[in-house]
Amino acid sequence: MNAKVWLVGAGPGDPELLTLKAVRALKEADVVLIDDLVNDAVLEHCSNARIIPVGKRGGCRSTPQAFIHRLMWRYARHGKCVVRLKGGDPCIFGRGGEEAQWLRERGVEVELVNGITAGLAGATQCDIPLTLRGVARGVTLVTAHTQDGSSLNWQALAQSGTTLVIYMGVAKLSEIREQLLAGGMKADTPVAMIENASLPHQRECRSDLTAMEEDAHDFELKSPAILVIGTVASRATQSLWEHDLPAMTVGQTA
Ligand code: SAH
Repeated sequence: MNAKVWLVGAGPGDPELLTLKAVRALKEADVVLIDDLVNDAVLEHCSNARIIPVGKRGGCRSTPQAFIHRLMWRYARHGKCVVRLKGGDPCIFGRGGEEAQWLRERGVEVELVNGITAGLAGATQCDIPLTLRGVARGVTLVTAHTQDGSSLNWQALAQSGTTLVIYMGVAKLSEIREQLLAGGMKADTPVAMIENASLPHQRECRSDLTAMEEDAHDFELKSPAILVIGTVASRATQSLWEHDLPAMTVGQTA
């Protein structure tokens, strides 16, 4: 096996949501650098790898990004097969793009492997069809947390007609609510807040745009959690989806 860095998505937490390609990369790895949102259970697929935790949760003690870059580079230069294992998908708020670029600029071969991103997994686990036909024309993945403190175009988001899936939003509920209301989103727009999606201790809190901050407080919502904002997050939509579709016979497609 040639020296290479695999930037691998470990999915949202449930080890069964790992891809077969991720399993192959873990089997071949000499070194695995693991983020803290990754479920350790996936490491059972490693054959003989050295495991190095490099987690860096917002606000906690963290491994500097430059150090992680250099660590991957050092092992790759010594002919090792390196797997950098990230929660969800490596390129959805995961710095996969910048790590790949940094390594390629130094002549290191890189392969990116998709993982199931937390926003999509959380919605599915709660039976929320993000792009339900006739209800939501699309889905927008967005982070409430910007590195430079710049603001999102909330008005455009509020009026996009797409389901919003918001990452890193737990500490920003007040701002999200105010901005979407100011942007023209209806006050009774349904909201689902999903904590620890796909894990045995997953919790979900259903609310609406007006009440979400208070409901999250009463529910003691904690990170990691995603917010799903849009008509599809309503329980009423869920029953429509489950019961009102015409029955299909075998062989028929939707
Ligand atoms: N690359 C990751 C996202 C990393 S950003 C992905 O594709 O999923 C970290 C944020 O992801 C958290 O603040 C939270 O909003 C979300 N997140 C990650 N894992 C989660 C989980 N199991 N349940 C709910 N949200 C999660």
